[in-house]
Amino acid sequence: MDLLIIGAGVGGLAVARVLLAAGHRVRIFEQAPARRTAGKALLVWSNGNAVLNDLGVSLDGLGARIDRIDALTSGGRLRMSMDIAHAADRYGFPTQAIPRRDLLERLADGLPDDLVHYGMTCRSVTQDENGVAVTFTDGSTATGDLLVGADGHHSAVRRHLWGDGAVRPATFGTWQGLSPIETPITDTTRHLMITGREGACGLMPAGDGLLQWWFDTRWSPAVPRPAAPLAELRRRFGHWASPVPEVLAAATEDDLEFFGHHWNKVRQVWGEGRITLVGDAAHTMPPTLGQGANQTLEDAWVLGQELAKGGDDPAVRLRAYEKARYPHISLVSRMAKRNPANWRTPPLLARLIPETAQTTMLARFSNRLTATAAQSG
Ligand SMILES: Cc1cc2nc3c(=O)[nH]c(=O)nc-3n(C[C@H](O)[C@H](O)[C@H](O)COP(=O)(O)OP(=O)(O)OC[C@H]3O[C@@H](n4cnc5c(N)ncnc54)[C@H](O)[C@@H]3O)c2cc1C
Repeated sequence: MDLLIIGAGVGGLAVARVLLAAGHRVRIFEQAPARRTAGKALLVWSNGNAVLNDLGVSLDGLGARIDRIDALTSGGRLRMSMDIAHAADRYGFPTQAIPRRDLLERLADGLPDDLVHYGMTCRSVTQDENGVAVTFTDGSTATGDLLVGADGHHSAVRRHLWGDGAVRPATFGTWQGLSPIETPITDTTRHLMITGREGACGLMPAGDGLLQWWFDTRWSPAVPRPAAPLAELRRRFGHWASPVPEVLAAATEDDLEFFGHHWNKVRQVWGEGRITLVGDAAHTMPPTLGQGANQTLEDAWVLGQELAKGGDDPAVRLRAYEKARYPHISLVSRMAKRNPANWRTPPLLARLIPETAQTTMLARFSNRLTATAAQSG
């Protein structure tokens, strides 16, 4: 088949890898002039890493392995500890924190040079029983058999399918940075998640002496952002237990990037006819669980499995893909809607949760890990 993909982010590149391997003709259209090199670090969990392995993408030598996540109070008291290495042992793939540019580079590695058509912004899409057509903002068009909208949070393809207003602002926003800040966790495999009345703070090693740090605070698009955000973060979080004040002291305004959280209710059927969506275009959610890119990879994997089943009507396979993804992605999406700043379970109660609970949760989040478990009986 001749497949068109809109967007060359995690989803577009992953889908292209799957479909090229299955022998289809694939073209990606990306609005940016070149591959993205910006962005902070992402957490690739065992499920995302398993999909990457199936796609022939190795994360060896990149970022930092995460074996433990400790949830702390703002005063530095341990609420609970999650044994993430347990999931790596169970599923065969570790959890790693990786700078986004490195993930995109590995996903693009080995793909044909002319696969991505840069500087092409999708304006509208149409379809009939024989195929799909995309019109770009420069007036040019492309036609094919199927269309995958991998165009993220502001998806033009989703707008065509669902209309406007499906994605809404959530209640928190993230100020984040990725910088060479020395702390007791920077060169370890330990990730800290700290919550208090003022919001939440995450600290995560990202390899090469880099620390990914973020602060979640209440946010609404209607309220203007602070003129001096770092000073505001220091005022709000500076009295928290070490190493939060040290991180804030070492951070600079240039490191800071803001991201308002958004969310859409996941639909049971999210495409129509010969058009479907992957990634944030179908399921935008706050970064609470660090599963956004992982769920995007899961989409690519399941889409590949369904299209490989063949049949006369490709639309049937696209709907089967959406149906297979729905139970997993809707669970992740609902859980991600609750910001960690609200997860202030008292330490005594939190310690009743088994340290290995995340291993079970990951299987519930994942088509890929569930399929492996079913195969091995
Ligand atoms: C602060 C923050 C932290 C996060 N942390 C994590 C984490 O730890 N782990 C994790 O798994 N996920 C995380 N995520 C989520 C993750 O970044 C996304 O879920 C993931 O990037 C989605 O991939 P995608 O391909 O759907 O969209 P994107 O990566 O957004 O790619 C979409 C692409 O489409 C292009 N595009 C858009 N519109 C058009 C158009 N009209 N025409 C042509 N091209 C177009 C864009 O330029 C872009 O290249 C985080 C997100 C944020 C904001």
